Amino acid sequence: KGETLEDTGRVMSSYADILVMRHSEVGSVDKLAAGASVPVINAGDGVGEHPTQALLDLYTIQKERGTIDGLKVAFVGDLKRYRSVHSLSQMLTHFNVSFTFVSPKEMKMDDHFTFKLKEKGIKFQETENLEDAIKDADVIYVTRIPKEYFSSPEEYEKFKGVYVVNRALLEDYGSKAIIMHPLPRVDEIAHDVDALPGAAYFRQAENGVTVRMALLSMLLGARV
Ligand code: ASP
Repeated sequence: KGETLEDTGRVMSSYADILVMRHSEVGSVDKLAAGASVPVINAGDGVGEHPTQALLDLYTIQKERGTIDGLKVAFVGDLKRYRSVHSLSQMLTHFNVSFTFVSPKEMKMDDHFTFKLKEKGIKFQETENLEDAIKDADVIYVTRIPKEYFSSPEEYEKFKGVYVVNRALLEDYGSKAIIMHPLPRVDEIAHDVDALPGAAYFRQAENGVTVRMALLSMLLGARV
């Protein structure tokens, strides 16, 4: 009916103690929050951010590797438009990590972000070659090539399947990395990886329940 998101936030604040919104537009959750008087959680705003995914990703890394500091983290796939990559990579800059970004050149990390890394003196490399990530990463964070963001099926076909992490490749390089993915997966992690001890993506999804329960409890005033 044309209501502004600010007004929706104001109205919904009298119905609920917390608002959780997923929306297709970048910045939409900020608008809802501007009108709201209760806590607002961004559950993904288009190609923008996905902070709760980043929290559960951090929790997963800590749980699987016992630490976050000192790790080499590789991101693989559409790094330009994948919101979980944006949120997790930003959060990781608060730790002592180094990055490898693997993507086709059309899907590179945003220049603003790599500029920030340079400013902060954080080590990173950008490459189109998947092997560069597998060689020495401790964490390999794989993303889907997101069909929904392509302007035509032909354009999607050009990039579909560009990177496939499979068991043979991981074993060839003697990789000890944990493999993560925000899910859903399509074809970018072969099913033969699922049985490897480092295949963390289903545990990662499960961790989302714990982390989001903790976040909701915290916002509702539970003592931690
Ligand atoms: N698993 C994530 C989610 O659905 C992936 C994403 O949408 O960014 O929340």
